[in-house]
Amino acid sequence: MMKYRHLSKVDLGFFPTPVSKLNNLTQYLSGPELLIKRDDLTGLALGGNKTRKLEYILADALANGCDTIITAGATQSNHCRQTAAAAAKLQLDCHLLLGGDETAQVNGNLLLDKLFGAQLHFCGDMRKGEGIAELAHRLKEQGKTPYIVPYGGSNELGAFAFTQAFIELTQQIDISTVSHIIFASSSGGTHAGLMLGKALTKANLSLVGINIDKSGHEHNAFADNIVALANETSALIGADFKFSNQDVILANDYLGQGYGVLGDLERNAIALLAEREGILLDPVYSGRAFGALVDMIEQGKLGKNEKVLFWHTGGAPALFSYAKSLTL
Ligand SMILES: *Cc1c(COP(=O)(O)O)cnc(C)c1O
Repeated sequence: MMKYRHLSKVDLGFFPTPVSKLNNLTQYLSGPELLIKRDDLTGLALGGNKTRKLEYILADALANGCDTIITAGATQSNHCRQTAAAAAKLQLDCHLLLGGDETAQVNGNLLLDKLFGAQLHFCGDMRKGEGIAELAHRLKEQGKTPYIVPYGGSNELGAFAFTQAFIELTQQIDISTVSHIIFASSSGGTHAGLMLGKALTKANLSLVGINIDKSGHEHNAFADNIVALANETSALIGADFKFSNQDVILANDYLGQGYGVLGDLERNAIALLAEREGILLDPVYSGRAFGALVDMIEQGKLGKNEKVLFWHTGGAPALFSYAKSLTL
């Protein structure tokens, strides 16, 4: 593999995460051979893909002498929950800007945010951290040294974590036998990092990101963001890959009724993996992405003789806040 610069990190999770075969489901669907990478088991606070990103991002916060972490997300944000737990472990203050308002039911991730002692700021429709700069300013006036973790942890440090994750996978299985890796893509850091890992290891497979929440004209801008982030991350580690839009595969057909709205696709996927494998998906990301995978098999887009790896990015704590719509 090509040489590149390593970045420093703090330990927050347990790695490598397991890879296993989905034997029952492979048999039930009569192929392709299905594998799963269990980043729902990263080990921090019920796990998820943000744990990897936070190991690099919070190392940077500590290196910069910060004492307060700020980030943002939806009411049921997995990213915010893992950030709150990481901040607790590192004994940093944590402020979360959350979508929704005080009337939100305190369960799932929101309950966990509270247990980890995060300070919550409800921001209505603004779930992407629109008010972050102002909050950082206020905290500075109070004598704090805040550090802003970007939305979804998707900057070069967060993406690099997924470059390392891809390399981790190549050390667990013979990657040359895998034809596709399928995963939920939303703020783009997972996608960009995996692209760079694939390039560094010269792996020959299709990385298929399932677009979770970008509709209509936002598709192209999202792909551009992923390319830009992959290029910036490559430059940061001294590997000069120049990615273009042709390197990004995004499946844009699985948006359903929009972000966070549970439909039959997600409901069926969650039931399928739960009943056939005893594995929990989540209603917003991995349920949608796995539903897309099943649909692609049914449409013949994934050949019966191929080997497909589903990258489970976590999120199951949000199941509890969807109890009603899951049991319709
Ligand atoms: C954040 C998240 C994703 C999306 O990862 P990005 O790097 O933001 O694209 C997927 N699945 C779950 C469960 C998440 O919490």
